[in-house]
Amino acid sequence: MKRTLAVLLLLFLALNAAAQRPLDSAQLQLALQKLTVVGSALYIAAHPDDENTALLAYWSNDRLYRTGYLALTRGDGGQNLIGDEKGELLGVIRTQELLAARRIDGAEQMFSRALDFGFSKGPDETLAIWGHDRILADVVWAIRRFQPDVIVTRFPTTGEGGHGHHTASAILAVEAFKLAGDPTKFPEQLKYVTPWQPKRIFWNRFSFQPIDPNDPKVAHSLRLDLGAFNPLLGRAYTEMAAESRSQHKSQGFGSAERRGTTINYFDLLDEVGGGEPAASDLFDGIDVSWSRYAGGDEVGKLLQQASATFDPKAPEKSIPLLLDAMSMLDRLGARPEWSPKVHPWIEVKRNELLRVIAGCAGLAIDVSAADSSVVAGHDLKVSVNVINRSGYPFILQTVGSRYAAPSIAVGKTLKNNAPLKTDITIKVPADTPVSQPYWLRKPPLKGSFVVDEQELIGVPENPPALPIIVTLTDDKMHTLFYTVPAIYRWTDPVRGEQTRNVDVVPDVVTNVAGKVYLFPDAKPKQVVLRAKSFSGAGDSIVKLTVPEGWSVAPESVPVSFKEKGDEVRATFTVTPPKNESEGLAKASSLSLTDIEYPHIPAQRVFGDGTAKLVRIDVKKRGTRIGYIMGSGDEVPDGLRQIGYEVNMLTDDDLERGNFAGYDAIVAGVRAYNTRKRLKLDTPKLLEWVKNGGTFVVQYNTNGGLLLDSPGPYPFKVSNERVTVEEAPVTFLKPGHPLLNEPNKITPRDFEGWVQERGLYFTTDWDPKYETVISSHDPNESDKPGGELYARYGKGVFVYTSYDWFRELPAGVPGAYRLFANIVSAK
Ligand SMILES: [Zn+2]
Repeated sequence: MKRTLAVLLLLFLALNAAAQRPLDSAQLQLALQKLTVVGSALYIAAHPDDENTALLAYWSNDRLYRTGYLALTRGDGGQNLIGDEKGELLGVIRTQELLAARRIDGAEQMFSRALDFGFSKGPDETLAIWGHDRILADVVWAIRRFQPDVIVTRFPTTGEGGHGHHTASAILAVEAFKLAGDPTKFPEQLKYVTPWQPKRIFWNRFSFQPIDPNDPKVAHSLRLDLGAFNPLLGRAYTEMAAESRSQHKSQGFGSAERRGTTINYFDLLDEVGGGEPAASDLFDGIDVSWSRYAGGDEVGKLLQQASATFDPKAPEKSIPLLLDAMSMLDRLGARPEWSPKVHPWIEVKRNELLRVIAGCAGLAIDVSAADSSVVAGHDLKVSVNVINRSGYPFILQTVGSRYAAPSIAVGKTLKNNAPLKTDITIKVPADTPVSQPYWLRKPPLKGSFVVDEQELIGVPENPPALPIIVTLTDDKMHTLFYTVPAIYRWTDPVRGEQTRNVDVVPDVVTNVAGKVYLFPDAKPKQVVLRAKSFSGAGDSIVKLTVPEGWSVAPESVPVSFKEKGDEVRATFTVTPPKNESEGLAKASSLSLTDIEYPHIPAQRVFGDGTAKLVRIDVKKRGTRIGYIMGSGDEVPDGLRQIGYEVNMLTDDDLERGNFAGYDAIVAGVRAYNTRKRLKLDTPKLLEWVKNGGTFVVQYNTNGGLLLDSPGPYPFKVSNERVTVEEAPVTFLKPGHPLLNEPNKITPRDFEGWVQERGLYFTTDWDPKYETVISSHDPNESDKPGGELYARYGKGVFVYTSYDWFRELPAGVPGAYRLFANIVSAK
């Protein structure tokens, strides 16, 4: 069982449903050549998007190395340009975006347990929060598991990479390079892997300006042309790179396809002693053929022969050779010095070979489940369709699953182009855990995820919940095992055939309708729970528990579901205590967030079914707010919690300029990066301010601003930020309305903030603006540009780069009082 798990994890990337499309003849030729290469390269950086996708595409498709990208984090702490997911949910999206990118450039994706806790100004802070030894262990683990010959870092160890996570990723890579081959370091890993010493580690020079090839700084750098063209694929690596990079849609990193020579520079950071230094290439002196390993020669020769004799017009002629190579690999893998623990290559190449054989035979294995979800303890019907589009006489022997013993014996020849369908019923054991992304099963520490099983550390996503094993044989004693995950297929009228993974889910999930319930006074509020059945028709009871001092009525609500997927509502009345109080309301089961975007497979993420309750006095002025949503945030709900009626302003509303009836208009985060109409229609908003309106603009990034400054007077948006969420805040004008009306603000209102104070602060503001509060990170100068206030005509304009979009959904009490004052400003 344990070994099965290890093998599953090794095979995991290729199991991904999206990778199952049969290879075309150009891809087959490359894949055949790749079978003869046993060299590998690992790129290390900090975040989704740090990786040099051109280099990954080049290594993987030109040099045909096994190529990996180790992103230390999943990008949880960033901003989201396509929706309102933040934190761990954003990390799930970015994980899938990286996997989508890897499907294009051909590299594999790995992670560490490090959590992206937001911007960090230095590696010391980063390493302290991540836990230096913990993440170093993970980098060593990744090296031992992947066994790269060469490692390349995106960033230098010396700080020019800016972000503390960046520099820390390079520091850890260099340290791990020294330690991974030492059996006395992290010996607990040696139960699963052997020590491994890569040959060299380089820094892949980057610069915001093009590097001059005659610059003395790069006189000793090795050079690679990543703009090289691959005639089989009809693409340059820089073209593939752009397509790959454009998968980072949540970051808005759509990229242009560059053509022509693109030189990259590589500086040696460390090298193992002995042997020649690299003079012209990163891999100088490294044998990447099978002969480098004792016993590998024979299989290498056979694979060479298969590659050399491939006929794209009759690929099936290659099958007998490839089957012999598979048998030889199997025999090699049975030797102790080639066990999966010592050698990843057997599993890697066996898996590549399975794909190549399938490609040569036009073999397709569709495993379609009747549904995309199944409750532990229940049955799931699965149809397995196997088709062979060649004359090679494969026999479909068995179709099985570890949850369907014994396997179904088929024993039929797969005739050319005649599908064979086998139905199988999977009995999912009652103790199967729900399909929660493994790194989210336990609450995280401040700087890292908690993962108990060593073998899961670094794996990009959960292994498939329900893999199906299809066994093929021929009349010459060859046996092939194809492991294919059960997936759910459906046809979308616009997008065509769609698929998603099958997840193991609880009977019932219950979501509290809101994340935060603010009680600005002692009046009760209604809290709605939405319960959804995954197990079919039946009765259930929905409960809501509240913290001490709070009360809820009724205690429970009986509900009845008509069918699987049915959703019912239950309404509770929650009464707060008289005095200030905070706590969690908890539903009686797990909650569920569905993440669905067109560029990534749909994801289910379970939560603990809680919502934050906050009883704090918040006063407000006005009743109606118009909201100009930017890239997506949850601030409108925060305003509703305070008691406002919030209407979303459409482009038409902006164009008509009809803002009558609003007490304030608020621009959402990045509205001046994303809402093109604002470029034309801001004068109408300012005219409305002149006549007595209050216009509040939240943070925008300084790149791609639609207007230099959206206010009545000029200012600049910089990339200055205050990243320490506890950074002290100074009151520059204690008597100012923003600090006094209608809520009296005290330093306590800046307590309990999450992730950071604010980002993209302003500089160079016109003296007509007033600054009211100021803050800064340790050892930096004060930054008063986080919030600007100006009277304009009869109205008020406020530009605020403080972190309302994070603090309000996190239920930070002071943030509500502060933001109420901003939208109440007169
Ligand atoms: Zn980064």
